[in-house]
Formats: sequence, C-alpha cells, structure tokens
Amino acid sequence: MLLFTPGPTPVPESVRLAMAAPTLHHRTPEFEAIFKETRELLFKLMATDEVIMLASSGTGAMEAAVTNLCHDTLLSVNSGKFGERFGKIALASGLNNIEIKHAWDTPATVEEVIEAVKANPSIDALAIQISESAGGLRHPVEEIAKAVKAINPSIMIIADGITAVGVERIDVSNIDCLIAGSQKALMLPPGLSILGLSNAAIEKTGEGKGYYLNLASEIKKQSQNTTAYTAATTLIIGLRAILLEIEAKEGFGMLYCVTARRAKSTRFALEALGLHSYPNTPARSMTTIDDQQAQEIRDILKKEFGVNVAGGQDHLKGKIFRINQMGLIDIHEMVWVVNAIELALAKLGRREFDGTASRVFNEEYFKHTLKKEEK
Ligand SMILES: *Cc1c(COP(=O)(O)O)cnc(C)c1O
Repeated sequence: MLLFTPGPTPVPESVRLAMAAPTLHHRTPEFEAIFKETRELLFKLMATDEVIMLASSGTGAMEAAVTNLCHDTLLSVNSGKFGERFGKIALASGLNNIEIKHAWDTPATVEEVIEAVKANPSIDALAIQISESAGGLRHPVEEIAKAVKAINPSIMIIADGITAVGVERIDVSNIDCLIAGSQKALMLPPGLSILGLSNAAIEKTGEGKGYYLNLASEIKKQSQNTTAYTAATTLIIGLRAILLEIEAKEGFGMLYCVTARRAKSTRFALEALGLHSYPNTPARSMTTIDDQQAQEIRDILKKEFGVNVAGGQDHLKGKIFRINQMGLIDIHEMVWVVNAIELALAKLGRREFDGTASRVFNEEYFKHTLKKEEK
C-alpha cells in the first residue's frame, strides 16, 4: 500500500534502520553528541536563533508556543481544524482569544489581520498556520508577519509550519516561533515536535510558563545539548538520519524545488481530468481535491490500486481528498497515484480512460529536464 496521506508520511528504510539500534541512555556523552549534531542540522533547517525539540506530537509545540509567548490575548487565524486548535489552546490556558474565521478554502488577508491588531491593543501574539492541512491551503504568513511587526514589533508571531518546514523555504525574519512536527514533512514516526525561536521570543519566555511545556527550562538545557526530561532518543536519532539523508541527496534547496514541481504537476494532472482543486491558495504540502464522490474515489484507490490518500474532517468528511506531497517521494509513485485516480474515475463512469493524468503529469514534471538537455 502506498501511504499518500499528508501526515503521517512514510518513514524511509534508512531511517527505520537507524532507529533500530539498541537504546541509548539519554544522559550520556554518546547521546549528547547525537543531540548536538541534530541541533546543528536543525539550525540550518529552521534558520531561527534557537531550536527546541519536545517529546510531544505537534499539538504539544502549539501549546508550548501559545502558553509561553502569549500573556494576554491571542489573535488566531482559523481557516481549518488546526487554526481552530490555536484558539482552543488559548481558551484552555486561560488566555483571551480573538479569532479570524474563514471557510477552509480561504486564506487570511493582511488587511483583516491588521484591522484586528489595531482594534485590539491587548493582542500580544498571533498564531497562524503556514500550510493549513485541513483544506490544504497556504496562508500569506510572511506578509502578515511583516505587517503586524510594522505596527507593533512586540507582538509574537507563532507560525505553525508542521506541513511547511521541509516543504519550502520559509522566511523567518518576522517569525518568532516556527513549529515543526516529526510525522509530516520530516518523514518520521509521530511523537517529536520542534520549535524554532527568535531572540525576542526567548526574551518574552522569561521564566517560562507551565511545567512540562516550559520553554525557559528547555532552552536552558537544550543549549547544553541535553533536555529537561527524558529525550525522545529514538526519534532524535531518526531525525538526525533523515536530515543527513536529505543533505546527502542534494540538500533542502533541491527538495523544495522538486516538491513544488511535483505538487504543481499533480494539480495540473488532476485538473486535466476535470477535477477541482479545493483551496484558493494551494499549499505545496498536499494536493486537495473537492468532489462529491471523494469517498468513492478513496475507496477505489485503496481497494483496487493500493493507494491510501486522506479524506476530509468535520464538514468536509466525504467531500475532499488530500494527497501528500511532503518528503522524499519516488516520482514513479506519484505518477501511479494520478493514474490510479484516472482509473477510479473511469470505474465510476465519469470519463473514458485514456492516460491523460500520467501524460499531463509527466509533461509538466519533466519539461524543465528536457529543456535543459536540448541546450
Ligand atoms: C498535523 C498537524 C498538526 C497537529 O499535529 P499533531 O502531531 O497531530 O499533534 C498541527 N498543525 C498542522 C498544520 C498539522 O498538519
């Protein structure tokens, strides 16, 4: 079965093998050396002033960011389930929450965020997804962050990059906290989250808030290559392995290029079949199609063609399907996925099978390669 859900993503064999080594004790020079190397690799990936790894799923990092970096009122952008979660975390933590809410295909605009910030002087942090995985959309986070900082530089910008870090280069110049998670673009099992912090965020953290998710105590320990509590040793060993593997395969710059090209080619191929791309601003992390027969298409893909794609949640259940674009993906697998979707549509009597999807995918994906060779 090909796992093509936008999280969890498949774990490469080399990484699984790296994680199969005997358990290391976390308070040893051996593990601290691995921790140090992983931190250095993460600094390159995140490009932030500090990086922290937590033994938690992505939501733990979201909570740590909100509770440590917001002391009064959070402005949260809700264009889907994950944006909604930021607001719920704020309320559960006794903070005020002001929410900008949209349909799941609609990104936030700079103007409405500015308006909310100007109207509510108690806002001291903004939380937003870079890629909102619920509907596969991309928010204009960099532009929003820049505009907010121009009004009030002390407002903390929390950017959930769980389906963006490792997918595309993110300009962190106006971001105070960039969040990543293990089981999405980093191709690891679930259970590890990462926070990239700005110096301003470190300052605002102060003594920290909370106990387990206290960023101040983690910053203190992790800058000395250890952790406040037991580190997720196996996952950190896996993280080091995947970061080294990506570096060895021409690096993140190349991965970002290939991911963008693959996502675009997939969208073109599916649109050529008459399918409709759901989000107004598609993220590169996934291809999201809205279709009345989304459930039937998913069932056929799984039962007959060995492809597992994700459906929708809440009101989009049975209305959309989402195809992963994150991580190291063999191109022949993606060609098979679009071909299988065309076959599924033929089985549903929606169109005659003529190989359009794989042809359009290949044309778009390989056109640059062929151009280069002509020269
Ligand atoms: C998956 C995801 C999360 C939540 O992560 P968990 O690991 O499930 O806690 C948060 N934000 C986005 C954008 C995600 O895709």
